[in-house]
Amino acid sequence: MADCLFCKIVRREIPATLVYEDERVAAFNDINPQAPTHVLVVPKRHIETLNELGTEDDRLIGELVRRAAAIAGERGLSAGGYRTVFNTNRDAGQTVLHIHLHLLGGRTMAWPPG
Ligand code: 5GP
Ligand code: ZN
Repeated sequence: MADCLFCKIVRREIPATLVYEDERVAAFNDINPQAPTHVLVVPKRHIETLNELGTEDDRLIGELVRRAAAIAGERGLSAGGYRTVFNTNRDAGQTVLHIHLHLLGGRTMAWPPG
C-alpha cells in the first residue's frame, strides 16, 4: 500500500534495522523500544488489522509467531520469557494500520498491561 509506513519499510523506502527477512515476512527494530529487545514482525503483504484475516492467512500468522519465537531464541530469551503482542485498533493503541507482532524481551514485564 503506497502510504503505509510498514509497507515503505518493507520496500526499503524508509530505513529500519532489519533483523530478519524472507519472501513473506520481515522483522525490524522498533524505533521507540520499550524493552532491550523490541522487534516488530510483519507480513510483507499489507493487512490492516487482525479483523481482516481470513483462513488463507493462517499459515502467514503462524510464520509471524514462529519467527518471533525464533528471534527470541537467538537472543537467549526463550527460557526466561518474552512478550508477543498484536494491538488492534483504537482501544488497544494500534497506531500503524499494518499488522505487526511486537516481540518484547530482556526485562521483566508487568501484567495486566496498561
Ligand atoms: P502499535 O502502537 O501500532 O501497536 O505499534 C506501532 C509501533 O511502531 C510502535 O511501537 C512505534 O514505536 C513503531 N514505529 C512507529 N514508526 C516507526 C518507524 O518509522 N520505524 C520503526 N522501526 N518503528 C516505528
Ligand atoms: Zn502496509
